[in-house]
Amino acid sequence: MNAPLPVQVLKQHLIDPEICIRCNTCEETCPVDAITHDSNNYVVDPDICNGCMACVPPCPTGSIDNWRLVLRTDAYSVQDQLGWEELPLEKALPEGADAGAGAQSALADPDAPAPSSAMAAPFSPAGASVPPWSAAHPYVNLYTHKAPMTATVVGNYRVTDADTESDIHHIVLDFGDLPFPVLEGQSIGILPPGTDAQGRPHHARQYSLASPRDGERAGYNNLSLTVKRVTEDHGGAAAHGVCSNYLCDLAKNDTVQVIGPFGHTFLMPNHPRANLIMICTGTGSAPMRAMTERYRRRIDTGENGRLMLFFGARTERELPYFGPLMKLPRDFIDINLALSREAGQPKRYVQDLIRERAAQVRDLLSDRNTCIYVCGLKGMEVGVLDALRDVAMQSGQDWSILHDVLRREGRLHFETY
Ligand SMILES: Cc1cc2nc3c(=O)[nH]c(=O)nc-3n(C[C@H](O)[C@H](O)[C@H](O)COP(=O)(O)OP(=O)(O)OC[C@H]3O[C@@H](n4cnc5c(N)ncnc54)[C@H](O)[C@@H]3O)c2cc1C
Ligand code: SF4
Ligand code: SF4
Repeated sequence: MNAPLPVQVLKQHLIDPEICIRCNTCEETCPVDAITHDSNNYVVDPDICNGCMACVPPCPTGSIDNWRLVLRTDAYSVQDQLGWEELPLEKALPEGADAGAGAQSALADPDAPAPSSAMAAPFSPAGASVPPWSAAHPYVNLYTHKAPMTATVVGNYRVTDADTESDIHHIVLDFGDLPFPVLEGQSIGILPPGTDAQGRPHHARQYSLASPRDGERAGYNNLSLTVKRVTEDHGGAAAHGVCSNYLCDLAKNDTVQVIGPFGHTFLMPNHPRANLIMICTGTGSAPMRAMTERYRRRIDTGENGRLMLFFGARTERELPYFGPLMKLPRDFIDINLALSREAGQPKRYVQDLIRERAAQVRDLLSDRNTCIYVCGLKGMEVGVLDALRDVAMQSGQDWSILHDVLRREGRLHFETY
């Protein structure tokens, strides 16, 4: 008698629709375009995914790290997944199905340890996927969609001039007696109330912390966010951002549902005399405020390295936290403002200022205690990288080697959205 033929089994890569916050990071990361989405779900095409795992570490929620053993002929299609409200349970395989030797798996190595699944900043291949060596240990995913935490709004005010188009709010959330440990550079998720067009609860949106680890007010169990009210989409058409408008309209003593914290790589170094180069636009200033405030609170300890900030906005009046920022001592932080629409001034972008300050940037780049953080609009990545490359090349350094070192040592981080 002939032995039964090995049945093809697929270790199918799936995304948990209940946890996914639709941040698009995985779709941007996947090198073979196996991930797609509609207005409902992010899904993985079983005919394209090769199990390379590139999308797993950057996913901020861990929702991408789900796998089901299925007969290849029964694989869940893209259409199936787009309609899901939750992941299906694992089904028993028919007798004779062999997930081992003869089986086809979507995973290159099904037993390879997945890189720490949950929670990282949005991934940019240009940046590091590891934190600086001395970063403190971050706590992640302590509160989830199924068990969010309730925070109370203790402050909400606008930090851009009232007559400008850019309505950016500083929002302070208090956690009462419940633990919510965070580090500068991490983010949290907010669950806006209500449902989307399909009647499903709105998915969570991510917001970077604007306060340091010991709280917006030192010693208090609170944190702050910097939220821009979205009134138009990326193409400039009128739009009403669900979560940003909800947050900007919150009043004192309102409560919000919070998940997280997220992020295990976009973290600041924790060793004495580490230097920070911070490059940001708009609400990308949130993590830079958190890191700067961490340094400011220990200004008298002698532990601080140098801080250099490149901050881009259209005008001074649209620059969040402009007033408090300009009050910081110049020997504490080297502030460089790039304004692109200031009346009577030439347009300047952060990359222009990086080139103008090439000598100082080069000096910092050559110090292994320097970490670089870039946060803000997605479009800024290329310009910033080009400027850093030019600065490095001016001093005869090979940028491709230096770039690789910065990434490997967790010293160059991007968080753009
Ligand atoms: C890691 C991470 C950190 C983030 N940190 C911050 C932060 O500190 N502060 C902050 O304000 N936002 C931050 N965001 C963006 C935030 O998560 C939301 O995407 C943003 O507030 C819009 O959500 P919404 O519900 O208001 O808009 P939605 O209802 O989701 O979208 C409405 C429309 O606006 C478009 N849109 C979405 N976001 C923007 C945008 N930022 N600008 C213009 N159009 C947009 C959408 O494409 C859609 O057409 C971060 C995102 C990530 C991934
Ligand atoms: S495992 Fe690799 S191929 Fe599959 S979806 Fe993730 S990045 Fe794409
Ligand atoms: S939360 Fe994870 S699975 Fe969902 S879109 Fe973001 S990266 Fe992809």
